[in-house]
Order: sequence, then structure tokens, then C-alpha cells
Amino acid sequence: MTKPIHGSVCLNHPDTAAVARCATCSKPICGECVKVFDGVTYCSKLCYENALRTGMLTEKVYSQKATGDRRRSIMAAIKFLILIAVLAGAFLFYRSHKREIDRKANELKYKTERKLQEGKNVIDKNLIKDSKYKKDRERMVNE
Ligand SMILES: [Zn+2]
Ligand SMILES: [Zn+2]
Repeated sequence: MTKPIHGSVCLNHPDTAAVARCATCSKPICGECVKVFDGVTYCSKLCYENALRTGMLTEKVYSQKATGDRRRSIMAAIKFLILIAVLAGAFLFYRSHKREIDRKANELKYKTERKLQEGKNVIDKNLIKDSKYKKDRERMVNE
């Protein structure tokens, strides 16, 4: 606050060159009128308080927004991690139990095929016994 602001005079002292502008209302002010709060020049304590209030308000809004964003991204990250964990778990389980699972699957397949075959055998056997039905079926097939 040493260099005069070109062409500006203090609003309170019209014959004195202004050396600074109020950070809040931009009023030109001379060295005598300058009030410094927190290293920033203001024309009055009121302007400092206004600046403080505005700054706090802005900060609050920003921090709230940042908190919301952070919470959202953390939730997304957690969901993603859970998904990865589940997939990895399933994969690891399959890999470590691959033989068992494959054997079970084959067993199931074999059992199912056998059951089907058994069913077919039973039907065929009954068909042989019940010649009328067998004939009907043969006729149906031949027609
Ligand atoms: Zn001011
Ligand atoms: Zn002044």
C-alpha cells in the first residue's frame, strides 16, 4: 500500500491519492483510511465482516458440495470393490474347486442321462408288454 492508484483519490479525502481499493466494495482509499484485516485491505470493518461472511458462505457451500461428491464417489468405489470381491471370490472358489465342480457337473449330467435312459427303458419295456399300445405307436410312427 505504497504506490498510489493512478487517477484515484481517497473517497474520504478527495485531495489524497488512493493507495488501495477495498477488497469488498472496490472503493479507492488512502493510506490513512486503509484497514488491514488478515493481510487484506478494506475501507472499513463492515466491509471486512461482509467479506468474511461471504467467504464463509462460499466455503460452506463448496465444502458441502465436496463432501457430497466425496460421499458419492466413496459409495461408488465401495460398490465397485464389493463387485470385484464377489467376482474374485467366485473365480477363486471355482479355480480352487474346479475339479470338484466339474466332477459334480459331470456327475449330474451322467445321472440325468441315466435317468432319461432308464425312463426310456421303462417306457420301451411297458410298450413291449402292452402290445396294443406298441402297435398304436408303430402305426403312428409309420403313418
Ligand atoms: Zn469497502
Ligand atoms: Zn482517506
